[in-house]
Amino acid sequence: MRVVSIPMRTRFRGLTVREAALVEGPAGWGEWSPFLEYDARIAEPWLRCAEEAAAGDWPDPVRDGVPVNVTVPAIGPESAHALVVRGGCRTAKVKVAEAGQSLADDQARLEAVRDALGPDGRVRIDANGAWSVDDAVAAIGVLDRAAGGLEYVEQPSASVEELAAVRRRVRVPIAADESIRRAEDPYRVRDLAAADIAVLKVQPLGGVRACLRIAEEIGLPVVVSSALETSVGIAAGVALAAALPELPYACGLATVQLLTDDVAVAPLLPVAGALPVGRPLVDGAALTRTAAAAGRVAWWEARLRAVRALQQDGRP
Ligand SMILES: [Mg+2]
Repeated sequence: MRVVSIPMRTRFRGLTVREAALVEGPAGWGEWSPFLEYDARIAEPWLRCAEEAAAGDWPDPVRDGVPVNVTVPAIGPESAHALVVRGGCRTAKVKVAEAGQSLADDQARLEAVRDALGPDGRVRIDANGAWSVDDAVAAIGVLDRAAGGLEYVEQPSASVEELAAVRRRVRVPIAADESIRRAEDPYRVRDLAAADIAVLKVQPLGGVRACLRIAEEIGLPVVVSSALETSVGIAAGVALAAALPELPYACGLATVQLLTDDVAVAPLLPVAGALPVGRPLVDGAALTRTAAAAGRVAWWEARLRAVRALQQDGRP
């Protein structure tokens, strides 16, 4: 196991540095990077994902490229316009409902993004659960007009029940993201008819094959998204997106650019709005350059022992 520590370009999810453990197996490297505050029980499926990758146990791809979205943070309209033009993606995910900003700010950002993409680009928004049901219904109407039509709204409100309530009152499709964190969550989203689209992340849900099974069972279109991994972890998300029988939406896997460095010889960055399918070659020099301090390595080794102990108890 190697542990890397890579500064973020800008603060994201409250993080300024991303730590990840890379485990090597017969097929190559897998990434195990549960966020630091997670306990062993939550971190366990993340390890299964890394082990599946290292064992080379991924399903066969049915496509050779995965379209991805550019992510537009809650920035001003001019910066948003420039970011979308520079990104080269045909789909933009725009953050809205940020604390300290108004609906007019979101509206101006969306108008700029639509202008940058042109009429046939797709625009989705992500509220990260910030709105009440009534606020969501009002805001979605306004922002749908500002964007010249929204592809979907990701997590307008915090709970699954609220998502279901919003969904009954708007015509824009609803995607569940934060509502899906554990393997049982997607079924609850389905049972409560809370979303039109499921955002799946391979690490928290236990790997590529586990997610493929979930996608089959819930019968909702899936958007594969990252957990801010290095290229090694992103490749697992790409493997899922490449194996899904249908992939009607661009994925949220273009996040390597949020990190200041990477461990791959050729980092998994979008080319013409898509990521290539396959396993990135890990760069030994990059592993050394990004290596975490000895104290952090010891912390990850202890974490790994705790998760393995859980697995041996058979009750993760
Ligand atoms: Mg989201």
